[in-house]
Amino acid sequence: MVTIKRWTFELGSTLPFLVLATGLAIFSMPASADWYRFSDTAMTTPIELEFWTEDKKLADRVGEEVLAVFHQVDAQMSRYREDSEVSRLNRNAANGPVAVSDGLFEVLEKAREVSILSDGAFDITFGSVGYLYDFRAGKRPTEEELRSGLPQVNFRDVILDQDAQTVEFRQAGIRVDLGGIAKGYAVDLGIKRLVSLGIRHARLSAGGDMRLLGDKRGRPWYVGIRDPRVEGRNAVVLPLKDTAVSTSGDYERFFVDEAGDRVHHILSPETGKSVQGVQSVTIIGEDALTTDGLSTAVFVLGPARGLEMVERLAGIDVVVIDDQRMMHVSEGLVPPQSDQGGTSGPD
Ligand code: ADP
Ligand code: MG
Repeated sequence: MVTIKRWTFELGSTLPFLVLATGLAIFSMPASADWYRFSDTAMTTPIELEFWTEDKKLADRVGEEVLAVFHQVDAQMSRYREDSEVSRLNRNAANGPVAVSDGLFEVLEKAREVSILSDGAFDITFGSVGYLYDFRAGKRPTEEELRSGLPQVNFRDVILDQDAQTVEFRQAGIRVDLGGIAKGYAVDLGIKRLVSLGIRHARLSAGGDMRLLGDKRGRPWYVGIRDPRVEGRNAVVLPLKDTAVSTSGDYERFFVDEAGDRVHHILSPETGKSVQGVQSVTIIGEDALTTDGLSTAVFVLGPARGLEMVERLAGIDVVVIDDQRMMHVSEGLVPPQSDQGGTSGPD
C-alpha cells in the first residue's frame, strides 16, 4: 500500500499562499511599464496574454500572432466544426487509418498517455456520449442513449500508428473530443511563438489553462485558484514562474436539474454522467498539454486516487477542492510556514 503524506485544509481557513517546496527566489525589482495585454475569445473560452517587451513596435505583432494560434488550433481540433481535422477523423477513422497532422498526433499521443496513467479516467472517446449533452440548453442523454453509447467509450479502441502517423478506430460510432486537452496544447504552442519572437516574460491563458514564461521581472506571478462556489474569491494563491497551471472545475459548463443536482461537463467514462465529489482540480507542471489532461483526469479520479496518481509523477503538483470544501494538496506544495493552520499525515 502506498502511504501518501498530504496536506488537507478546510476552505476559508487562513491559508492565503502555497509555495512550491523547491523554492522560489523573490527579488524586489520594480515592475516596469512595458507590459502589454491582449485578450480574445477562441475555443469557446477567454484568451488572455500579458507580456513584457522593450520593443514597442514588436508588441502588436506578438499579440496578433499569439492570439492567432488559438484560432488555428480551434479550426483544427474543435468537434463543433464540421470541417475541423478532428471532425474528419471522427467521420472516417472507423473505415481505416487516417493520416493526421503532427499537432493532432501529438495531442492524441498525450491523451493516450494520460488515459493509461489514470486507468481510463481520462478518455477522449467520452465524446461518444459527450455529444449528447448540451449544457447551455440544459440537455442530457436518456439512460437508453447512454446504454447504447457507452460501448463506444474506450481509449484502447483508438489505434495510433507512430511510424505512419495515422489513427484508426477499432469500432464504428467512436467520437473523440479533445475539450479536456486541446487548450493546453494551444497554450504551449502560444508560448513557443512568444519565445521565438524573443519574449522572456509572459502569462498566457485559455480559460483554466495557463502557462507562465519566466517571472514577472523580479517577482513571481501570483496565480489564484478560485473558490469554486464564490465568484471573484480565491481559495488560495500560488506564487509561480516558468510553469503551467490548469484548473478543471464543475462551474465552467453546467446546469442544475429538477432534482437539484449539478450536471456539468466532466464525465465519467464508466457511467457517461457528470463526476460527483469534486468541485475543482488544479495541476501544476511543466507544460500545459500535460497539466490540462491531468486536471481533467484527477477530477474524474477524485481526491484519494487522484493524489495517489500525482504523487507518482515527477514535477507534478495538485490542489483538489472536494464537495465538502476541503482542499487536498500534494506534497510538493507547502504553506510558507508549515506549522500554520493545517493538518498533515497519512490517510
Ligand atoms: P475546461 O478548461 O474547459 O474547464 P477541462 O480541462 O476540465 O476544461 O476539460 C473539460 C472538458 O474535458 C469537457 O468540456 C470535455 O470536453 C472534456 N472531458 C469531459 N470528461 C472527460 C473525460 N472523462 N476524459 C477526457 N475529457 C473529458
Ligand atoms: Mg483539462
